[in-house]
Amino acid sequence: MDLGLTDKVAVITGGSIGIGLAIAHGLAAEGAHVVVAARNLERAKEAADEVAAKHGTRTLAVGADVATADGCAQLIAQVEQAFGGADILINNAGTGSNETILEAPDEKWQYYWDLHVMAAVRLGRGMAPAMIKRGGGVILHNASICATQPLWYEPIYNTTKSALLMFSKTLANELIPHNIRVNTVNLGLTLTPDWVKTATQLTEGTDKTWKDYIQGVADEWAPIKRFASPEEVADFFVFLCSKRATYSVGSTYYVDGGMMKSIV
Ligand code: NDP
Repeated sequence: MDLGLTDKVAVITGGSIGIGLAIAHGLAAEGAHVVVAARNLERAKEAADEVAAKHGTRTLAVGADVATADGCAQLIAQVEQAFGGADILINNAGTGSNETILEAPDEKWQYYWDLHVMAAVRLGRGMAPAMIKRGGGVILHNASICATQPLWYEPIYNTTKSALLMFSKTLANELIPHNIRVNTVNLGLTLTPDWVKTATQLTEGTDKTWKDYIQGVADEWAPIKRFASPEEVADFFVFLCSKRATYSVGSTYYVDGGMMKSIV
């Protein structure tokens, strides 16, 4: 299947590890040039070099904190300078939280709002004009199943990812006249290095291994009874970026091994 991604320029926030890195590989394997953005520039460079060496496309590493207006502006400027803009923006940078509503301070709410919502607002607003000049584009938001099916221990994550869903839908309506397709992907359990680290910490000094812990989580939450690999969820993002998905607009797609309990 020709995905029509050769020589497209794709910006992936949080592209230095985990799901973002898998998306970077997936897009570069289809011939796209990839911008990897993350706070830790060294790790972003390693990821960008790894992608370039494996797929032979151009890559750029950008050290930027997308939870800040300055970080977003730097990323937009560097993409403009290196490639004259982008065809694809994947708003992927994000992280889980752990709190109760009664205990979490305003500052914590604000940080997650900036990371999960304002980054998408600022980067979408900043990169859409160049996409329009290039004839169109794709913006994908990596939200989470928690955007519609909350986990009790992370109310701030649930709420800000849910807001991202509505932002994505609204942006889709505004940008489709310019041939920019905006969609959201809600993932379930995906086995990133961060999950392995957490599982290792939680099982240290017990008679269980990190793999036992991960299997327990999968058994409890996912009818498929396993985690996804970053690569298998990345394939879905790559498809949505492609010319094979040209009628997919303003939607939310679940890639969750059946974890979503309702049908809407
Ligand atoms: P990881 O923790 O493995 O990676 C997060 C990436 O985002 C890193 O590259 C990190 O680099 C970057 N990042 C974090 N904060 C910022 C910031 N402020 N500015 C720029 N970059 C940042 O995450 P995952 O791969 O697990 O998750 C990726 C996305 O998928 C997230 O939005 C997450 O909510 C979502 N998701 C994940 C699921 C899972 O099971 N793994 C399930 C559902 C959704 P650096 O630290 O250098 O900034």
